[in-house]
Amino acid sequence: MEPFDGRWPKPLRVLNQEVIECRKCPRLVAWREEVAATKRRAFRDWVYWGRPVPSFGDPAARLLIVGLAPAAHGANRTGRMFTGDRSGDFLYRALFETGFANQPESESANDGLVLNDAFITAPVRCAPPDNKPNPEEVLNCRPFLERELALLRRVRVVVALGGIGFTQYLIFLQKQRIVRSRAAFRFGHGAVHRTHDGGPLLMGCYHPSQQNTSTGKLTAAMLRDLFAEARRLIETEEASVRRTGR
Ligand code: SF4
Repeated sequence: MEPFDGRWPKPLRVLNQEVIECRKCPRLVAWREEVAATKRRAFRDWVYWGRPVPSFGDPAARLLIVGLAPAAHGANRTGRMFTGDRSGDFLYRALFETGFANQPESESANDGLVLNDAFITAPVRCAPPDNKPNPEEVLNCRPFLERELALLRRVRVVVALGGIGFTQYLIFLQKQRIVRSRAAFRFGHGAVHRTHDGGPLLMGCYHPSQQNTSTGKLTAAMLRDLFAEARRLIETEEASVRRTGR
């Protein structure tokens, strides 16, 4: 399987090749490989990916989605972000309905799904036990995210799926000395922050985890409406840049 979109420039391909080969977190390496070897019964005929999961999408995207980490039997199985589990079903349907994806289904890395004007990344690239990376693992993986954020130059809106993605994006801005403190920015579903003049807007969004979607904390309509709003903000920001030159 070719994990990279043909549209990707070399620096992004090189970075994500490094991601795929990474073995920095012993606990996550052991877990992702154990899951890949033991498998879930329903997927016993699959050859699991069982490695760090590269980013996915349009390198010229104006919408950047920052998730959390791959799911053990989702992206850790298929090798593509949010692919092969209910979170992905939820996410990609919303992206399809708002024009960021060419189809609502995401079953395997070869299913024909293409993102347009959207790019998906994550602060942690290996599936963690109980979907919970520890702080050291988040720290280990952060350089990949930081390097990627520096390469994605057209982004106008960043949608953080959950508090960890939200915080990691702000830490990146802090390290770049773009924001002084994170305290002014509170995570909330639909909350939009202008972190700095001329930079992308930051939007909070509940993660489409099964826990959130099965309890109704996040509904399909809420997610679709959020991406529709992201699209509207992208167009507004573009118009503002054209007007002011910033
Ligand atoms: S979580 Fe990130 S840093 Fe840790 S092993 Fe996976 S890719 Fe490497």
